[in-house]
Amino acid sequence: MKRVLITGAAGFLGSHLCDRFIKEGCHVIGMDNLITGDLKNIEHLFKLENFEYYHHDVTKFVHVPGKLDYILHFASPASPIDYLKIPIQTLKVGALGTHNLLGLAKEKGARFMIASTSEIYGDPLVHPQTEEYYGNVNTIGPRGVYDEAKRFQESITMAYHTFHGLDTRIVRIFNTYGPRMRLNDGRVIPAFMGQALRGEDLTVFGDGSQTRSFCYVDDEVEGIYRLLMSDYTGPVNIGNPHEITIKDFAEEIIKLTGTDQKIIYKDLPKDDPMVRQPDISKAKSILGWEPKVSRADGMKRTYDYFKTLSQEDLKKTEHRDFSKQIRK
Ligand code: UDP
Repeated sequence: MKRVLITGAAGFLGSHLCDRFIKEGCHVIGMDNLITGDLKNIEHLFKLENFEYYHHDVTKFVHVPGKLDYILHFASPASPIDYLKIPIQTLKVGALGTHNLLGLAKEKGARFMIASTSEIYGDPLVHPQTEEYYGNVNTIGPRGVYDEAKRFQESITMAYHTFHGLDTRIVRIFNTYGPRMRLNDGRVIPAFMGQALRGEDLTVFGDGSQTRSFCYVDDEVEGIYRLLMSDYTGPVNIGNPHEITIKDFAEEIIKLTGTDQKIIYKDLPKDDPMVRQPDISKAKSILGWEPKVSRADGMKRTYDYFKTLSQEDLKKTEHRDFSKQIRK
């Protein structure tokens, strides 16, 4: 039985990865310090014999007894509102955490994968973004703590690959959504859906002409899994190339939810990328992968999930408007 360590296991993406590796018949060790994760996302796994949970902060020395075949480092705050609240932890988990886990992978002879991100392209000057593009990142801006940690994470992973011969994979994840997203994480999908459910207006930042391309979580997990199982060690974009402006997206959500509320406009946060769309030619040719779930389908499934939350949960997750706080 393959033994897999997944960090950030109680997070949105981490928990879906735990499910996938359990389905593949692996022994899964989920690790999290619950700064942004939630045990609710993995509580259904606790009864399984082939699942273990370690409460641990990976910026400290990581010890896992027994053999490990794969290590997937998916622990990190992942929304702009979190980077603002916990910037140092964001830097540490990407830098020190990655170093500790690389050491563990080397010790165990495990294959190591890091969750990189479209944020390494910053506010891109090349569109759509190919893996060859080096990016346009403001090192000292509000997103710099995340973007630079992720860029460092790619560099140190590549250094362990070339210097120590470690077997490594780098996935560049574009905007991903689905059930188990935190309703108050500040990201646009839970933000709009939460607002619709609470009967509030939808807050579009800027004039809403900025674009994003949203990938349903099941598609994202499939791409990640295929990359891990492939022998390709360069970075690979995994995301859905179907691009939309945030204003059009808000209108889609209004239709989907049937809310009577309207769109209101707020300031655009500093360094908010104006466009984002993955070029997935590499994933297509190397992994035979492309997304299958349409936005209409994925959004409906996600909204159905948010609707199951109680009114009490909804109240606790009031919309956090961060557009003012980070504008200079
Ligand atoms: N956004 C918005 N209203 C909100 C939250 C986000 O208009 O209530 C915008 C945000 O400014 C950005 C886009 O939606 O242009 C996607 O934001 P998100 O935080 O989901 O992801 P990221 O910017 O990291 O891609």
